[in-house]
Amino acid sequence: MSHTIAPILGEATIQELRESVRGQVITPGDASYGEACQIWNGAYQDRRPAVVVQCAGAADVIAAVGFARSHGLPIAVRGGGHSVAGFSTCDDGIMIDLSPMRGVDVDPVSRRAVVGGGAVWADVDHETQVHGLATTGGLVSSTGVAGFTLGGGIGWTMRKFGLACDNLVAADVVTADGQIVHASESENADLLWGLRGGGGNFGIVTRFEFGLHPLGPVIYAGAVFYPAEDAFDLLRAFRAWSAGAPDEVTALVNLTSAPPLPVIPEEWHGRKVVALVAASSGPVDEGPALFGGITDVAEPIADVLGPMPYKFLQTLLDPLWPSGIHAYFKATNLARLDDQLVDRLCKAHQTAPGPQCEIHVHQMGGAVARVGAGASAFPERSMPFVLNAVTGWHDPAARSAHTDWARAVIGAASEASTGRAYVNFLGDAGAAQSSYSEDAYTRLVALKDKYDPTNVFRLNQNIEPSMAGS
Ligand SMILES: Cc1cc2nc3c(=O)[nH]c(=O)nc-3n(C[C@H](O)[C@H](O)[C@H](O)COP(=O)(O)OP(=O)(O)OC[C@H]3O[C@@H](n4cnc5c(N)ncnc54)[C@H](O)[C@@H]3O)c2cc1C
Repeated sequence: MSHTIAPILGEATIQELRESVRGQVITPGDASYGEACQIWNGAYQDRRPAVVVQCAGAADVIAAVGFARSHGLPIAVRGGGHSVAGFSTCDDGIMIDLSPMRGVDVDPVSRRAVVGGGAVWADVDHETQVHGLATTGGLVSSTGVAGFTLGGGIGWTMRKFGLACDNLVAADVVTADGQIVHASESENADLLWGLRGGGGNFGIVTRFEFGLHPLGPVIYAGAVFYPAEDAFDLLRAFRAWSAGAPDEVTALVNLTSAPPLPVIPEEWHGRKVVALVAASSGPVDEGPALFGGITDVAEPIADVLGPMPYKFLQTLLDPLWPSGIHAYFKATNLARLDDQLVDRLCKAHQTAPGPQCEIHVHQMGGAVARVGAGASAFPERSMPFVLNAVTGWHDPAARSAHTDWARAVIGAASEASTGRAYVNFLGDAGAAQSSYSEDAYTRLVALKDKYDPTNVFRLNQNIEPSMAGS
């Protein structure tokens, strides 16, 4: 791996940048450069930005955007660094890294949290749970609040509290022209609309404000594992159960290989299994009744569904998806989970090329579906399920086997798909237009024209401004 210094950035130019920010400016000559360039997805570990600016605050973000524009550098914005498509790093551009901006301030009276643009969900859970409060966050605690929320935000409490973006009440955004714009229901409401699902297209969010809800510290949650041959029955039971499940529960079925966890009998480690993973935000003692009719569909291999601290649930999957693993996801929204699709998913599960190939069927509905179709940029609300083919591998040579498999899984669902997809679950760029409805996309382009007419922020599921290049 070569660390080339882009010739456009001489030492004097870098010095000028160093003097204009409080945070660190890191270039290829610095010892910390290799680490500073890394994002979660190891498939992008060879990307070499010309410079990384680790921002200490909004003023640094403004300075970095101004510097990038005056030197014609592409901008990669890094929040939590979990972009599956590798959007938060780049070659020969500037990485504007908000990871030092991880502050979380909770007001338990108004039930609001103010969260820095580089925070991860572990930061939010840590501060909010002290007050017995929570908002919808990710299934892996190291995922960034920023990219997660701006794309939508699917999590364990979404059917009760809504998506992460539904809980976003305000934000401060550094726009392409270096202004800080405050977005809320009463100020720049069009921008708030776009931040709720339109991704990082409109600027860099330095500060998020979320609504919070009482939850925990202990909730009823966990997973039940079954042999893979029970996947067909479990998915059918899941479909029937989901239709009548209360908002308190959010569940997914995962067709996977058994991880080497102590709770799973050793003879099952590495073998193909299917798991029901679920959480309830309702009273703990009502938990067992909520899952009646589904958990008894077959004889489990391991049953770890029960009372557990919410913070523990939020970190349960972390060890399975460590930083540096190579990854590719592909997803689609499902209009239905019919028997033909269930059969195809079970067959695809058997052809998975590695142990970290997972087929997730997320239960949607509840509070997610009750937000009006055009009320936020998040493109679709009525789908009962979201299908996500999640793959991870370590040997770079295994890439095409994994991406081909994920694409085949989603291809097999084409007849049951709504035709839309959740942008945060897509490992390929260039998917914005097909992910949003026509109406939402037209509105998003108008917003892009207003806030970023020359497409300064384009390393994302890009909404191209209509005036770009004109
Ligand atoms: C292990 C893993 C688990 C996941 N689990 C879930 C899950 O449970 N539910 C779910 O919905 N999604 C999940 N995702 C997908 C996740 O929502 C997206 O990858 C999301 O973009 C990550 O946000 P981030 O800030 O960490 O990413 P980054 O890589 O930092 O950024 C992602 C995108 O957002 C932009 N961006 C980042 N910070 C800012 C900012 N401050 N202002 C403006 N734009 C910004 C970036 O430029 C980039 O385009 C998961 C991903 C991974 C890798």
